[in-house]
Amino acid sequence: MTLLLTRDALMARRASVRQDLEPLGRSLRADLEPLLAQPELTVPPEKARLTRTGGRCPVHGALLEFDPSSPRAHTCPDCGVVYTEEEHYRWWIMNYQLWLAERSVHAAALGVLTDDGASLDLARCILRGYADRYLSYENKDNVLGPTRLFFSTYLESIWLLQLACALSLLESEDEDRSVGAVVRERVLVPSAALIAQYDEGTSNRQVWNNAALLAAGALLGDDAMVHRAVHGRSGLAAHLTGSLLTDGTWYEGENYHLFAHRGLWYGVQCCSTLGIELPDDGVKRFEEGFATPLLTALPDFTFPARRDSQYAVSLRQWRFAESCELGMARTGDARLAAALMRLYDENGPARPTGRGRSTAEAERNVPAARLTRADLGWKSLLCAALRLPLSEEPPLQSAHLPAQGFAVLRRDAGRVYVALDYGTPGGGHGHPDRLNAWLVVGDARILEDVGTGSYVERTLFWYRSTLAHNAPLIDGRSQPYGSGRLEAWDERGAAGWIEASFALVPGRVRATRRLIVMPDYMIDELEWNGADVATIDVPFHVEPDPDPQHRWIPAPLPEPAENGGGFGFLHDVQRLDGPSPGTFTVNVRGRSVRAWTHCDRPHEWYRAVGPGPPGSPERAFVFVRAAAQSGRVRSLWSWSPAVTASRIDGEGCAVELGEERHLHQLVDGRWSITLHTQGARSSIDLDGRVARATGDDAVEDAASAAPAPPRHVLAPGRPFVMELGKRHYRRSEEPWETAGAPGATLRIAASRVSVDLDIDVHKRDPYFAPPRPDNPLDNEDPDINSDGVQLYVYLPDSHAYASWILVPVTDSTEVRVRSRESAGSPVALETDWRSTTDGYRIRCRLARGARGLGVDRDFMVNVVVNEMSRDRERRRGQLVATGSNEEWVYLRGDREDTRRMLAFEIVDV
Ligand SMILES: [Zn+2]
Ligand SMILES: [Zn+2]
Repeated sequence: MTLLLTRDALMARRASVRQDLEPLGRSLRADLEPLLAQPELTVPPEKARLTRTGGRCPVHGALLEFDPSSPRAHTCPDCGVVYTEEEHYRWWIMNYQLWLAERSVHAAALGVLTDDGASLDLARCILRGYADRYLSYENKDNVLGPTRLFFSTYLESIWLLQLACALSLLESEDEDRSVGAVVRERVLVPSAALIAQYDEGTSNRQVWNNAALLAAGALLGDDAMVHRAVHGRSGLAAHLTGSLLTDGTWYEGENYHLFAHRGLWYGVQCCSTLGIELPDDGVKRFEEGFATPLLTALPDFTFPARRDSQYAVSLRQWRFAESCELGMARTGDARLAAALMRLYDENGPARPTGRGRSTAEAERNVPAARLTRADLGWKSLLCAALRLPLSEEPPLQSAHLPAQGFAVLRRDAGRVYVALDYGTPGGGHGHPDRLNAWLVVGDARILEDVGTGSYVERTLFWYRSTLAHNAPLIDGRSQPYGSGRLEAWDERGAAGWIEASFALVPGRVRATRRLIVMPDYMIDELEWNGADVATIDVPFHVEPDPDPQHRWIPAPLPEPAENGGGFGFLHDVQRLDGPSPGTFTVNVRGRSVRAWTHCDRPHEWYRAVGPGPPGSPERAFVFVRAAAQSGRVRSLWSWSPAVTASRIDGEGCAVELGEERHLHQLVDGRWSITLHTQGARSSIDLDGRVARATGDDAVEDAASAAPAPPRHVLAPGRPFVMELGKRHYRRSEEPWETAGAPGATLRIAASRVSVDLDIDVHKRDPYFAPPRPDNPLDNEDPDINSDGVQLYVYLPDSHAYASWILVPVTDSTEVRVRSRESAGSPVALETDWRSTTDGYRIRCRLARGARGLGVDRDFMVNVVVNEMSRDRERRRGQLVATGSNEEWVYLRGDREDTRRMLAFEIVDV
């Protein structure tokens, strides 16, 4: 049985690998030398552990270097300090196990293709080592799904996939079967069973779960497992046709694309070896996906640092070269050939590629390096084309990715990059930066997005503010999280147009930004329209060159300027004396760009110093501020000396390029450009407006109203009683039955003065955590990892919510309370507890009338019972009064969906 290549293909490849790919084989062999030289294999006995501090430099948050030969000493790449604490070791284990698993398939591929007995022995030794130990790791205390070695299921999937591929390569040699038998019994069967429990739907992580189940299922001859991995509801086929967009991008955005796409490669490759058919349309998207990272790449061959992305990550990494090679081998796509030409040119800095420390597919980014084909990985040894065609580099094209809401307009054969980021902000790692504008000329980043620095530094709040972007904000606050929408997109010859809008205040203020790009310049128009007067700021993260025409005078921060809006990071604030700079010049990396500006409402220009891109010193930038119900900030940016003058005003924009003159105007929703050249006149009409019915704004901006839950009646003497059990249980590793079958009786009663909740929990040996000042595991409240109750109440007076985490204090009737209010003054809660014969009981009393509670209106509440055991560090599960819907408890913290509540009508008799 083989997984990634048929046996025939594998045998046919042997001779050619020894010739055409000989340098690659040699360098992959060199990576194995340290392991081959070891008398015994090191396999850590502990499970990997995720903590807040593990694996990061405590001083400034950089990820510590991973060195497989150094379990107890970890160097910070930035400050060079070596850390030896236990939490770093436990983090290192994750990397090490993945690294070691990958070495098994690396050694097996090399061994089979180059007839290298020592490598084959090493692969067998790693597989046997894991067969001996796998079941000794406990499936417990995980962060994201069941797993033995790790803390998240997808990591175990990546690990298992490496072992399965290694085993299939060894078995292609058709000899000793003893390794296979023991690996199947002690690793493949139990690990696949554990992975199969946890279906992550359309998450990029499920790609890896599928690949692991497909590989394990094939080796086990388990057709049902294979079928589910490929054709299940969240199987490979569904991901190919539903989660890859038509342009080949993984739907979660370019941050996740390469990771998900690499996982899909294993699945597609296995299916073709095993003769399993996949939908043509899906395979087409997958093949397009090899070139996707090139669509939005910056001219200097780095990724745009959108959202929480790392800043200026280069495509010049061996892993990306390997992705292009694997794509070339399948499709011969000229874009990939061109990208490879570029990756293999002499421009990259000569430095180690980091391949020897590769942690299977859960890699982290490494600095750009000069690459050759000898730097590729073991997958290339198996699958890359033996020779690459010489290729002409086709110029990079403009690209509009509507599903992500990101449009890139390229000019000057790809050297000029203009983009508008308007679509979905991108989940938990998204930023409130809708309508962020980009302008990059060669390696000069004029307007861009700098992503995020360290999660543990205070500047995180800067990078996650609107003010840190070239995006508009209102009343000194960051934008709300929401998606913008496309208004127009068109590109005809030299002229391109992208326009999108975003509700800065849903239902009240909408901003529209349009960028028009010509070969020598770009026009940027930001327009806002509101129901009332609002203060708008439009930041441009450029520092104008000193100009005697501009007099900047020291000024206080203009009000309003909320801390949460990023203003708290600014200092040396100055205001322009006079209305507008008119024009200014900026110089970035020797590139001079001239800007002409105009605002049609009374306004002021500010200059301030704030954090620079991650890893760079502070820098100055400017923002223009106006207070009005509606208005427009327009600017023209030129990177070319061809533009000699420009006039920009409330009506339109006139640009002079020597003898040539361009007139730009918005006419009936179309962008019209009239060109006058030496007496001749021509025009370009850009017409890409998205049709929309009037009134759509209100519908789209209105807060989505949740369907009203069924109401129960509460009357004096008629309490509401509910038994919580199996169907209310949100599990972690163990299902309800083996978690001790916990239950609770919930009683809710109303009197004239109060609503009383009585939560009678039935479970053996409850564990009430002592007070802990902070949580070493993560950013959640430490009290969620205890037996206790989370209570949620709707506050009618402000449409807000109050919530409490309640933990009984041992040897007293007191309850430790942490409360949280989404708005308004705190709600008083009286509470006490006592132990009972079969558990414990918490009582809560809420006064009626306070914050509108229980007055003429619905009373809405949710109760969640946390369930813990003494031998754990993370909670085991939860009983949820509104039902568990077969959910898992992972990563929920104390967050509950406030649309899921029990609703009561209180009737006073
Ligand atoms: Zn450091
Ligand atoms: Zn951002």
